[in-house]
Amino acid sequence: MHAITDRQSLISALDCRERQFTEELIAEGGRIKRENVGTKTYLRGLIEISNKCRKDCLYCGIRCSNVQVERYEMSEEEIISCALKAMALNYGSICIQSGERCDKAFTDRISSVIRKIKALTDGRTGITLSLGEQSRETLMEWFEAGAHRYLLRIEASNPMLYRRLHPENSLHSYDTRLKTLYDLKEIGYQVGSGVMIGLPYQTPADLADDLLFLKNFDIDMVGMGPYIPHPQTPLAALQYPADGRRLELSLKMVALLRMLMPKINIAATTALEVLDKKGREKALAAGANIVMPNISPASSKSRYSLYDKKTSLSEDINLEDAEIGFGEWGDSLHFLAKRADIE
Ligand code: SAM
Repeated sequence: MHAITDRQSLISALDCRERQFTEELIAEGGRIKRENVGTKTYLRGLIEISNKCRKDCLYCGIRCSNVQVERYEMSEEEIISCALKAMALNYGSICIQSGERCDKAFTDRISSVIRKIKALTDGRTGITLSLGEQSRETLMEWFEAGAHRYLLRIEASNPMLYRRLHPENSLHSYDTRLKTLYDLKEIGYQVGSGVMIGLPYQTPADLADDLLFLKNFDIDMVGMGPYIPHPQTPLAALQYPADGRRLELSLKMVALLRMLMPKINIAATTALEVLDKKGREKALAAGANIVMPNISPASSKSRYSLYDKKTSLSEDINLEDAEIGFGEWGDSLHFLAKRADIE
């Protein structure tokens, strides 16, 4: 298959409904992955530390307006015990995720947790953060404490679409989100971003532009997955593509991104499993190389309900055929190559 890299070809590839083309594209994504980042799948033990959030994103189940959510916050000890569990399972890395909070008590606690996890595991734990938009100072403090990767999805790279998915106020600013991504890059993090796929209003051209946005930003890691409506959110009332189409689009997005950026890390995201029990395995076949098993305690998992059916998902991803990078950080080769160029 010839490389699909220009905007019009990306749009046509996403738009195409031919099954044979989709299968060939997915196979090609898998082939390019094996050739460029190898056959290993790396793990990040996901710890969902709190569902308290100051944001009100129109698609998200833990948006602050959703009064039906029982809010929780894990203690420092609970977070550390999850991290130690990940190390005992030989995962190599953890990802600490939460609703967005910027108060000092929260940011100090994160710094303290990072330092303690690093100290207790002799620096062996790779730490990714996914804690939303934060000030440059906070991001620097967490980097200095020992976190070295950060995930912040742009959600939709088209500013007009972004505005339709978020309330119109300064707390939900596309420009601030983008600026945070640039801050992360300048500080020295491996930067991850991504989008939701199959959103209301979203067109194949938007998705093609999402891929080009990630390429032009020179992103190191990507976590993108299907939009899954949550009944307690305003967006759920709007039309979106059928399950099968969102799955197909998500797998194509992974394969096309792998063509555009052969050496980055791409996550097989959990949301895929809502649409297909084998969704994550299929994403690995299409070019993804990262899986984030949820290691949060059951009481937290049940309340971190971003989208419908998330809490009932099984974590038993079948990785029998996959070669797992146990005990390895599995950093982005794309990032490491850039750094080697600078040094
Ligand atoms: N607060 C952090 C942030 O804003 O990046 C991290 C937590 S946030 C809940 C994690 C991700 O969940 C978001 O980036 C968003 O893409 C995803 N998400 C939220 N609601 C979703 C939905 N209904 N369907 C699919 N993904 C969703």
